[in-house]
Amino acid sequence: MSRLDLLSLLPDELEALARRLGADPYRGRQLAAWLFKKGVYDPQAMSNLPKEFRVRLGEEAFVGVPEVERVTRSQDGSQKVVFRLADGARVQSVLMPDRDRLTLCLSTQVGCGFACAFCFTGTMGLERNLTAGEIVGQLAAVRQTLEPEARVTHLVFMGMGEPLANYDATVKAVRLLTHPDAFGYSPRRITVSTVGLVSGIKKLAKENLKVNLAISLHATTDEVRERLMPVNRSWSLEDLLAACRRFPLPVRQRMTFEYVLLDGVNDSPEDAILLTRLLKGIRAKVNVIPFNDWEGSGFRRPPLQRILGFQATLQEHGITATVRWSKGEDIGAACGQLKELQIAQGLLER
Ligand code: SAH
Repeated sequence: MSRLDLLSLLPDELEALARRLGADPYRGRQLAAWLFKKGVYDPQAMSNLPKEFRVRLGEEAFVGVPEVERVTRSQDGSQKVVFRLADGARVQSVLMPDRDRLTLCLSTQVGCGFACAFCFTGTMGLERNLTAGEIVGQLAAVRQTLEPEARVTHLVFMGMGEPLANYDATVKAVRLLTHPDAFGYSPRRITVSTVGLVSGIKKLAKENLKVNLAISLHATTDEVRERLMPVNRSWSLEDLLAACRRFPLPVRQRMTFEYVLLDGVNDSPEDAILLTRLLKGIRAKVNVIPFNDWEGSGFRRPPLQRILGFQATLQEHGITATVRWSKGEDIGAACGQLKELQIAQGLLER
């Protein structure tokens, strides 16, 4: 049997493990405190656990904190972190400071299978899903690199991959992040972003996780959305927005719609007006993301005037709209720029 990743177990599962390994169940709680609160990942260093239990843990389990292989710092203060997973696969996270916030962008898959036309990660295809332990392991690893007083305050599932296509691991990761005896984050500080996988949105609606949901919309007609996002052939805009309308939003929470602006493709004043119509009846806000370029993309970022005009039109129609000037563009860490190749890695350094 393969060994268990302790980072993928909720506190009551750690209790059950302690019992199974012949220790008192409360030893599982102590284990949880070491892992999640103190950030100690070597069982042999968990000084209040009996020797025998530590030995059994060493035999039966491991702690899957990914190795931090490389950290690249951007001029704007954000950092791109490249992780090496146990099987040698690589994923990236981005750490973004903003006033009193420190947001970590987590990956859920190695690569991505959804092939959105404007997304660099999409050109990789899907290599594999991450486990729940590998998803929260990105936080565990990044915590070790921070100054003692620094703390990651917000988590966004917006790195490589489609969270809802790796559904079970994503939900388990959210439970680990929010459990008071695990990482203990408020669900309001967590955002799950999806390409618009309607089956997954419907399932998520029943979990009562209370996390924020972000939808990558990016177009106002099926024709354009299909061209940009192949997923629209499975679920049209109408299906997607119907699922959004039915999604149980916690009080005072709004759903985020992400809209990447592509010059001459989806950035006209008519698009802005259509967008406000599509969002009628949804407590929504829009994040306008000016396209982040990559070589060979075939798309361009619209001129500044057009970006600001798009935002203004949304606001005139009563929709809160923020322009997301991406962080980490100079280091290839901005939205949709994450890609990691096993061999030709050096070629991608920017
Ligand atoms: N698969 C999820 C999570 C990825 S989040 C999703 O689709 O929502 C990354 C966000 O950046 C998505 O909204 C994605 O559409 C957007 N994005 C991808 N490539 C981009 C690019 N080159 N410039 C700007 N935004 C991009």
